[in-house]
Amino acid sequence: MTTLIQNGQVYTNGQLIVADVVIDNDRITAIGEPGFWQGSIDQRIDATNKLVSPGLVDVHVHYRDPGETQKETIHTGSLAAAHGGFTTVGAMPNLDPAPDTPARVAEMVRRNQQEGVVHIAQFATITTGRQGDQLVDFAGVKKAGAFAVSNDGSGVQTAGTMYQAMKGAAAAGLPLAAHVEDNSLLFGGVMTASDRSRQLGLPGAPSVSESAQVARDLVLAKTTGVHYHICHVSTKESIAMVRFAKQQGVNVTCEVTPHHLLLTVDDIDGHDTNYKMNPPLRTKADQQALIAGLQDGTIDMIATDHAPHTVADKPADFTQAANGITGSETAFAELYTNLVKPGTISLTKLLDLMSAKPADLFNLNQAGHLEPGRPADLAIFDLQQSTRIQAADYQSKGINTPFTGDQVYGDTVLTMVDGHVVYQRKEG
Ligand SMILES: [Zn+2]
Repeated sequence: MTTLIQNGQVYTNGQLIVADVVIDNDRITAIGEPGFWQGSIDQRIDATNKLVSPGLVDVHVHYRDPGETQKETIHTGSLAAAHGGFTTVGAMPNLDPAPDTPARVAEMVRRNQQEGVVHIAQFATITTGRQGDQLVDFAGVKKAGAFAVSNDGSGVQTAGTMYQAMKGAAAAGLPLAAHVEDNSLLFGGVMTASDRSRQLGLPGAPSVSESAQVARDLVLAKTTGVHYHICHVSTKESIAMVRFAKQQGVNVTCEVTPHHLLLTVDDIDGHDTNYKMNPPLRTKADQQALIAGLQDGTIDMIATDHAPHTVADKPADFTQAANGITGSETAFAELYTNLVKPGTISLTKLLDLMSAKPADLFNLNQAGHLEPGRPADLAIFDLQQSTRIQAADYQSKGINTPFTGDQVYGDTVLTMVDGHVVYQRKEG
């Protein structure tokens, strides 16, 4: 079966060109100027005035399955990813049971493939049950199909455990993705300690709870040689240290979330707990450092930390509500509207940060590039007409995001995985 995507603004090989894309079953076979294709066509998709992008890649999502399927399942999470234009995601292992043995990882890999409509790469944990000091069998979980390890949701608390974990992950050839948070520096805080937390009378945690552990880990990463990846980096001190470490040749990469780029602690009113997540929203100075880090390449990629919760998990009390917000369905449009349209970063830069960079740095099998020979994983976005983000459109079980109601450009028109349409916008 041959599909022709016609006349789109196609991002291929580092350039945006008006082109036709030819797909033969599950592969992209040719890209050329409009009308170039002389062969047979079974299906035409008109992409005139639309962006045709490589399928987006998000290395940080939470699908709650098994364990908390009232919040999300592998299937609904993957539908949300498809709605946002994502075709490959990395699923975090804070599950019950957690994928912390080769057998459990193999079971997740099998379920991800069977129940997901997008490609779902699986993280294994760093330690058993994501707690304590008992390391997983790194070579075993890699052989079972894990693409990286992470204890996301909590930091690895002791330097000795992190040191041994880095040595094990390096030997197995697994990236180690760290949620950086020193529990001894939280002091019961539910938001960043700041003028805002004092105004609201809410307990604050100092942002050094993140950056102190980043400092520790960068030293350990240098000596172990592991591919050390920092999840959802959020403070100006962390960015400064990553920039320095890269200059020293440390094998470090990092991701930033859309919400840390677009929101600050000053957006918190103390009641709308869709502004509560971990790491928490930071100060304006931190936000500016994150944007500078995007611009100069210190930050390697954008990841959403898609974290669905039920309405009951998010009462209007900052001290009680769960941490986390959904992200898959709003990320591209929010970032296009608020970073690309005002000229903070270019469209091609945003696309690289959301496709080629995460795919290449995590060695995700052929994802992240729209080129002949690659899998037909792509997304079509509408950059011309603005739309309002509406909860009724969410495919996720979670509606916990502060971005609902925003008027944005960059709505997803269609998402394709291996040549199959997995999301299509209802027209009219
Ligand atoms: Zn995390």
